[in-house]
Amino acid sequence: MAANVMEIYGSKVFNEHVMKERLPSATYRSLKATLEKGQPLDIEVANVVASVMKRWAMELGATHYTHWFQPLTGITSEKHDGFVSPMKDGTAIMEFNGKELVRSEPDASSFPNGGLRATCEARGYTAWDPTSYAFVKDGVLCIPTAFCSYNGEALDAKTPLLRSLKVLSDQACRILKLFGKDVEHVSVTVGAEQEYFLIRKEDYAARKDLILTGRTMFGAMPTKGQEMEEHYFGALRPVVAAFMEDLDTALWELGIPAKTKHNEVAPCQHELAPIFDTANIAVDHNLLTMEMMKKIAEKHGLACLLHEKPFTGVNGSGKHDNWSLTADKQNLLDPGETPKDNLQFLLFFAAVIKAVDLYQDLLRATVASPANDHRLGGNEAPPAIISMFVGDDLAAVLDAVSTDSEYAGPGRQRIDLGVDVLPKFKKDNTDRNRTSPFAFTGNKFEFRMPGSNMNLADANTTLNTAVAKVLKGYADELEQAEDFHTAVVALVKRTLHDHKRIIFNGNGYSAEWEAEAARRGLYNLRNTVDAAAAMPAEKNIALFEEMGVMTRTELLSRYEVKVENYSKVLHIEALTMVEMANKQLIPAAADYMGDIAGTVAAKRTVSDCLPCRAEMKILEKVSAGTDAMSDAVDAVTAAVERAEAQADSLEKAKVYRDQVLPAMAALRAAADATEVVCGEEYWPLPSYSKMLYYV
Ligand code: ADP
Ligand code: MG
Repeated sequence: MAANVMEIYGSKVFNEHVMKERLPSATYRSLKATLEKGQPLDIEVANVVASVMKRWAMELGATHYTHWFQPLTGITSEKHDGFVSPMKDGTAIMEFNGKELVRSEPDASSFPNGGLRATCEARGYTAWDPTSYAFVKDGVLCIPTAFCSYNGEALDAKTPLLRSLKVLSDQACRILKLFGKDVEHVSVTVGAEQEYFLIRKEDYAARKDLILTGRTMFGAMPTKGQEMEEHYFGALRPVVAAFMEDLDTALWELGIPAKTKHNEVAPCQHELAPIFDTANIAVDHNLLTMEMMKKIAEKHGLACLLHEKPFTGVNGSGKHDNWSLTADKQNLLDPGETPKDNLQFLLFFAAVIKAVDLYQDLLRATVASPANDHRLGGNEAPPAIISMFVGDDLAAVLDAVSTDSEYAGPGRQRIDLGVDVLPKFKKDNTDRNRTSPFAFTGNKFEFRMPGSNMNLADANTTLNTAVAKVLKGYADELEQAEDFHTAVVALVKRTLHDHKRIIFNGNGYSAEWEAEAARRGLYNLRNTVDAAAAMPAEKNIALFEEMGVMTRTELLSRYEVKVENYSKVLHIEALTMVEMANKQLIPAAADYMGDIAGTVAAKRTVSDCLPCRAEMKILEKVSAGTDAMSDAVDAVTAAVERAEAQADSLEKAKVYRDQVLPAMAALRAAADATEVVCGEEYWPLPSYSKMLYYV
């Protein structure tokens, strides 16, 4: 297997290598120009590319093509069209032309759009994003596309991401020019670490909650939790090892550089990290990875859970967004070795600090979902408050710079940004602060709040746009400066001074931090409803409009989708719980009580003297639990009715949060208390122990 990695790597991707080999050279050159400079693709060129692409895909067994896109909720969407085209003489040919490659019109009126298309055209179209390679998956040629309305409004996650990459590149180039570097393009690099759970398929299939909501809505704690932490980096179960091997192969064929894989802290939890790539490709690859994980798990008799919190009381899953900037192969967030590089590093570093501080609320909103609400702030994942970790040593450097005082760390010295090389601060790779939502890890930032089931496009779009906006302000100022060097130093100092409140190197899980963050005036948006409500602030609309990344309507539609999605998810969860309680749990408890009562009656017919203490205790507990479940079902149902009666979407979401969620928690508590005292054969759901400790 290992021997042919080089052979299979990228074998299902219409990549640079394939293009060069198969396209006529003139076509290749004009496609390259499109890729590199964003020039529009000529239809003649598209026709040639399409025909070559079709032949290549057919050699790999493809019979259909699809425009693969990223709607506003959910992960990816595709609608398959056959290449087949019947001829008059009863035969058929396989066709695929430039128009079909470049544009398609899915009947997409049912994709969430936050009211976007209500005001404009009813239909949207998808358009090829030639910066991301086409690939073949399950007999289908997949063309990565953007999804827009006829007025050009973005109906997807990819379009704003592509726009944000362009503006960030433009502004970063202006800054580099001032440092004497003439680069045409700055790219954003992203490495997405993906966490997931694998459980047995039969356990998954036996739970309606997992099937319908992605998480277990009932389940008493197992007798053994994750307190032993033995799972972390532990030996892999053979079935998991086989799954991972297959997954690696599938990903390598798709040109996805899957690199590390290991067990995570929670039982049955694993992680996969690829080698980083440019942002839009990394995002596409992450979405494909998620899809492949689910598919390949099934082949191994497993179910892959990508939900952020499949098991209460067990760590949930996240997706770390490692983020940096690269120009001409130089990582702009690498401190470098010379004073000049140091200064450039500090300027970009300061820009990220300012951007994160100014747009904390927006960044927080990009990672808000009902599922992620169970994770953030739960002492297993970063808190809901955004702060930045830079490590004590770098913090001391920044402090010395901003206050013009002596640097107190190792290699103690006075730092004159004009002359000195920055002291070699520890990169803090060993003693990493895992409680920080946004950590500098030596030469990149790591945004740790995104949930395992999210599309990273949103978080990166916001981060890129915010950093672009700050760099734009910097460039405007520095281009006018009389003495560039002095001006940069002053700018870095001012930024650090003004935005140091966002830097926090302590324990993000502690109650003291919450109080301290409030004193510093940082946002603490505890849940999706609060985070979403912060999105449409004028400063946020202004950011996206000024940078040309999203119009007011586009941002408001995303706000609307987020709020509606919150209510929809909770609606499904609540109804699923009610149905499971009514149809499975209460009847199971009743059966058990019936049998125990039968035992009591039987014992009594034998002799009145036989004690029935154990049976009576069980009957009392199960009976009380069943009553509690029944009452809780009524409470959940009533709360859902109150929520659904709200006309305003934000008010509705608030009722779900404030009334439905607590009622659901009460139903679960009643059911879990009953499970613990109910006979194992009677309880209809696979227990946490069975699901998490399978052999
Ligand atoms: P962790 O210790 O957080 O688990 P890993 O080494 O597993 O870290 O993952 C780090 C991720 O960061 C990898 O996906 C890696 O490719 C990515 N990464 C490394 N350098 C950069 C960079 N310059 N830009 C973006 N991502 C990067
Ligand atoms: Mg990480």
